[in-house]
Amino acid sequence: MNIDKLLEYQTIDVELVKLESDFRALPICKEYNFSLNSFKDAQAAVKKLTTEADEMCAQIEGLVDQYKKLNEQLSEAETAIDNIADLKQADFYNRNIEKILGDMQGLSKSISALSTKIEDHRRCYERAVKQGKEARQKGTEAAPIFEKARSEVIPAMEALKNKLITLEKDIDERAVNHYKQLRTAKKVPAIVPLHGEASCGGCFMEMAGNSIAKLRNDGFIECPNCSRIIFIK
Ligand SMILES: [Zn+2]
Repeated sequence: MNIDKLLEYQTIDVELVKLESDFRALPICKEYNFSLNSFKDAQAAVKKLTTEADEMCAQIEGLVDQYKKLNEQLSEAETAIDNIADLKQADFYNRNIEKILGDMQGLSKSISALSTKIEDHRRCYERAVKQGKEARQKGTEAAPIFEKARSEVIPAMEALKNKLITLEKDIDERAVNHYKQLRTAKKVPAIVPLHGEASCGGCFMEMAGNSIAKLRNDGFIECPNCSRIIFIK
């Protein structure tokens, strides 16, 4: 493996990472991304609330249907009043009416509770729509300055990316992948010099004699502890 090329790759990559993080740290970039994320959050909330509203509409329709049925039963029961012949029948009539009225009362409470829930829900929906609108407005205002700042940094980023692509062709594919894995794991620098006589320049773990011998022979080794690639300066 060509350690010099890999080191060159790392230098350029570190430069690119710094350029990207400097750009992300710009106030306009933070403002734009914040607006964008707020807008996305609001959209997700609106979507969720719409689904919930559909469910509640179906629930309330079901309850109103049940109420209508009870009302029909009540009308039907009332027609029996003309046929009451004795006290026993009058008792039955009363019990029947009371039961239906009781059921209606229970159902009316459920409908009322659900209506309150729907009203709260509507307020949440209104808030989410307002949040989305405001975030969109802020994002739209920030966009021209953000785009200008981005267009200023993009050529430098592209140039570095192209350099990396060119360099990749001269480096062993496994080594490049290993480097990328270390970078994803935030173990940067990923290619480190030997520290002192026998320690990893990244995690400073002391290595065994045979590892050092391999390092002197091959020019590089993988740290058994942090997986960084160690080389001799
Ligand atoms: Zn190490």
